[in-house]
Amino acid sequence: MNIVCVICSDLLVPSDDVFHIPCGHIFHFACVTQWLEGNFKFSLCTSKTCPQCRKKTTLNKIHRIYFNFANKLNFQLMMKEKDNKHYTEKINTVEKQNNELKKEVRKVESEISEKNSAICALKEQIKYFQEQNLE
Ligand SMILES: [Zn+2]
Ligand SMILES: [Zn+2]
Repeated sequence: MNIVCVICSDLLVPSDDVFHIPCGHIFHFACVTQWLEGNFKFSLCTSKTCPQCRKKTTLNKIHRIYFNFANKLNFQLMMKEKDNKHYTEKINTVEKQNNELKKEVRKVESEISEKNSAICALKEQIKYFQEQNLE
């Protein structure tokens, strides 16, 4: 942001207390109060007018400005959070699939053990018949 406070010629940055006056011009809080109180030490022509456009104003007509600043760091953070969310969703999906597969495996395993016990029973029967035949 390259906005200058014309009273002190410094840049207005979002962390500053920035105030606007009715004409729409913006200044540092300290600068505009000093200006309007008429005791700004660097100026001879202090008055209750805007230092930029000379429109009349008073101290009780100044209002604070709040910047909704999307700085680069915040933006990057936001993108990272988006990424994170995306990956979390992906992980959730994979975990769901994993659980489904585990269920499937358990089902197949129980089927196998059922068939194994059936085979065992058949083997017992075969053994029984073979023993009967021998007698
Ligand atoms: Zn200033
Ligand atoms: Zn002005």
